[in-house]
This record gives sequence, structure tokens and C-alpha cells, in this order.
Amino acid sequence: MDKLSRFLFDSANVRGEIVQLKDSWQAMLSNHAYPKVIRDYLGETVAASVLLSATLKFEGSLTIQANGDGGALTLLVVECSNDFGVRGVAKYSEPIPEEDDLKTLLENGTLVITIEQAKTKERYQGIVALEGNSIAEFLQGYLIRSEQLETRIFLAADEQAVGGLLLQQLPGQQEDDSWERITHLGSTIKAEELLGLEAKKILHLLYHEEDIRLFDAQSVHFQCSCSRVKVTKMLRSISHQEAADIIQEQGNISVACEFCGKSYQFDEIDIAEIYSTHIQPSDSSIRH
Ligand SMILES: [Zn+2]
Repeated sequence: MDKLSRFLFDSANVRGEIVQLKDSWQAMLSNHAYPKVIRDYLGETVAASVLLSATLKFEGSLTIQANGDGGALTLLVVECSNDFGVRGVAKYSEPIPEEDDLKTLLENGTLVITIEQAKTKERYQGIVALEGNSIAEFLQGYLIRSEQLETRIFLAADEQAVGGLLLQQLPGQQEDDSWERITHLGSTIKAEELLGLEAKKILHLLYHEEDIRLFDAQSVHFQCSCSRVKVTKMLRSISHQEAADIIQEQGNISVACEFCGKSYQFDEIDIAEIYSTHIQPSDSSIRH
């Protein structure tokens, strides 16, 4: 099962989360053939998005989006909802440089976190400084600044699975060196452990001398929010003439969702309808 597990140190003012995904990660990879380095950065971001979404206190979603500007990684976008529906996609230009570290791939790029409340559509956006050279370092820096709480994030990804560990100091006095001890032990986690061991075993491995409360895991799943209505809106960004030309050439317009691979077809009649009315079609008009 893909899941997020939360835990609490009884002996220290520290909380933690472990995320491990297989099926939802496989769903994200199924329509893509990413080069390894791109795949792994996407996977790490997916794991991080679930760790960060665990603190959402309302119905909504958290999006992590990187936009490159000249580097080989042109776009990376991952979205996770408050009930842990996750999706993500990356775009890149080849060749991937030999020096394929994140800074080079994302040259002059930006990384933005957007939190959107589902009901009110209210949005909060935060710019993530590209300090460090990993998704984990970028995001932990962001959390330290935005939440004013010491945070450490460890991420791992391969073709099978993605995993993440988050440690965060809780507000309040820190009286001893427990934070240093806990984060030092956390930093000894190996990628294969984060990807392959049960959360309980990871905690035993790292912290068998600490008293820890591990809470029931919450399940994480792949979820795509694409719809015919959204694709229709997107289609309106090309002119009626362009749409008509494609229909003329190919018989219909086929648009595939980049996240889930689902294909949406529009024929001549659909196109005539889309451009003849300014009323947005409602969800009830979805045809299969
Ligand atoms: Zn989709």
C-alpha cells in the first residue's frame, strides 16, 4: 500500500513523517520514458509533495512547480491533495548534460509552492529559494523560513518506488541536544532503506533507543483532476481556424492528458460547438 505514516518522539519535541509510494509512482511513470535523472528528481518531488501536504488543514491541494529557463529540466509539476491524491509530470529537453546535478538542470529556474483551498479557490504562493543542490535541501530551506521550525527532509526515488522522511522540531523550548541527535541519526538513512523497509522498521533501525509513537498510516493514491471541461477550455486557446485546419487534416483533435495519459477526442461537431458559444460546457455534457 502507498502510505504516509506520522510519528512523534515522546522523549523530544520532534515530529516526523515517512512516505512510501509504489503504485501511484508507477501510474505516473506509465505514460512516460523519462531519463533516469529526470525520473528521480520527479520522484523525489512526488515524495516531498505528500510530506508537505500532510499539514494541509483544509480541503485543497499543494502544488510544487519548477520552471526551468535554459536548463534541460524545463518543467516539473507535482500536485497532492489533502486526502493524498497525487499526480506529477516532468518535461525536459535533450541532451541531458553530463553534469546533471539539479542546479545545472534547473538553470535560472524557479520553484514555487502553491496551496489552494478547494472551496474558496483562495491561493497562497511561496517562492522556494534554490539554495543547496537537491529537492530535499530546497524544500527544507523553504519550510524553515516559512514555518520558522527546524526541518530536515530526506528523499529517495528509483524506477520502482519513491520514499521520504521528514523530521521537524515542534514549537517550544528545546532543552537538550535531542534535535541534533535525531537529525544526525536521520541523516544515516540509506536510499534502499527508505524505499524498501516498512516505516516501523525504519524507525526501529534509526531510533531503537528512543520512545516513538507511530500513528496509523494514511493511504496515498494516484489521482488526476483532468476533465473534458478543462481540456475544452484549453482548446479555446487556439483559434477556430487552427482547430478547423487540424480537423481537416486529421479528422479529429485528440488531446492527451500529460499526467494520466487519458485521451480526449473532439470531432468537427464538437469544435463547431466550442467556438459557437461562449457558455462553458458543464460537467454534465461529458461524453465518453
Ligand atoms: Zn489526467
